Amino acid sequence: MATRALGIDIGGTGIKMGLIRSDGKVIASGEIRSPTDCQPEEAADLIARAAAALIAEAGVAVPVIGVGCAGLIGTKRGIVHTSPNLPRWHETPLAALLARRLGTPVRLLNDANACAVAEARLGAGVGRSPVIALTIGTGIGGAVITNGRVVTGRNGFAGEVGHMSIQADGPPCACGNRGCLELFVGKQPIIDGYLSETTWHIGSVPYELTSGDQKRLTPQILAMAAGKGDKFAIGSFQRAGEMLGVGLCNLTNLIDVDCFIIGGGIAQAGDLLLKPARDVLGQQAIARDVFLPPVVQAELGVEAGFVGAALFAMEDSWGADREVNP
Ligand SMILES: [Zn+2]
Repeated sequence: MATRALGIDIGGTGIKMGLIRSDGKVIASGEIRSPTDCQPEEAADLIARAAAALIAEAGVAVPVIGVGCAGLIGTKRGIVHTSPNLPRWHETPLAALLARRLGTPVRLLNDANACAVAEARLGAGVGRSPVIALTIGTGIGGAVITNGRVVTGRNGFAGEVGHMSIQADGPPCACGNRGCLELFVGKQPIIDGYLSETTWHIGSVPYELTSGDQKRLTPQILAMAAGKGDKFAIGSFQRAGEMLGVGLCNLTNLIDVDCFIIGGGIAQAGDLLLKPARDVLGQQAIARDVFLPPVVQAELGVEAGFVGAALFAMEDSWGADREVNP
């Protein structure tokens, strides 16, 4: 097994990268702006140049590179099928583009999967298996980890728990399904849930915290309002948390989860969201009287994406067909 790797996390605004040892220690790290307007070849040039500079600066050999990217990622063949962050990258063979430029094998995976690998091995999931990690922000990313290894599925598409339907006749989702979990749990559902229960009015805590500008309303502000006792804000998190709990029931009924790890911006609401989810899990999961998986917050910070991508790349039991070599 490789003892170090370069991890790259391609986000919507920035690309973070770091040299990682197999114990997860970060040797060196850096960040460049995401080349969201560039064609894939040009973007690969920019990413490869930054990666080469980081490797040269650290002065160590890097036997393998792991890349995490949002979207529908073909892990086996190293392809970005579609990515919300990089609209020009349809069917882009990103692993091959980078491997050719850097002279190093490159392994590609979904960014939520990369974060989950790091959380399972170094963060909130240490010693637990299987772990399901959810990253809740605008949408919901997810990943299933067993014994520290991510379940990628046949192609790399496994773990899309945000698009698990929890209401068959629910609202339509952009993915083509209806009533998906992320339509009920996330930034916009929590804001909409608040505004559907009360009018936007002077004197309310969210109104005062945004100086009356409804466009500035965020789940963070609603969490602050809830902390000050705003019952409509508390209610919105409660409803979202209950829907999250329904999703967690489905997941643990499927694979008997040892621990749920909840990360992403919305997870910072903590028990406002997670307690109702735990309550539903305790009332509705089939094995609730024998074992209830803990629902905990993610522990790692912004480095989780590139650390997880690097750890994934270091795994030694990959078949040769899964590698994209230079
Ligand atoms: Zn969906």
